[in-house]
Amino acid sequence: MENLKEKVSYLKGLTEGLELEESKETKLLKKIISVLQDFADAIDELEASQVELEEYVEAIDEDLGNLERDYYDLDDYEEEPDYLEVTCPHCNEVVFIDESIDDEVLCPNCRERIEINDNDNSGKENE
Ligand SMILES: [Zn+2]
Repeated sequence: MENLKEKVSYLKGLTEGLELEESKETKLLKKIISVLQDFADAIDELEASQVELEEYVEAIDEDLGNLERDYYDLDDYEEEPDYLEVTCPHCNEVVFIDESIDDEVLCPNCRERIEINDNDNSGKENE
């Protein structure tokens, strides 16, 4: 809120520059400008603590995001893109196969061999 402080400073300078005669009105005017200055300072402090608070909340949000990512990664492990969803041709069970295995794998359900065909990622076609 630098603009507000600048405006009050301008008003203060203007009042001093006018060299107003000492009077009740002048006294009142200077008092009002002094109060405006207090307002501008208070808002400036408020804004500084607001920025600090926003940074703090952002840091918490980031930490929470990391925690959520770690937590849900463990839960959704089988749905990671590194794993192929394959229907076993022997028992028709849908199993998840590590994509790095490119020839064949044993079905975790019926222990029969499942051949992994590179051209058929769904694995639903028997050849
Ligand atoms: Zn099977």
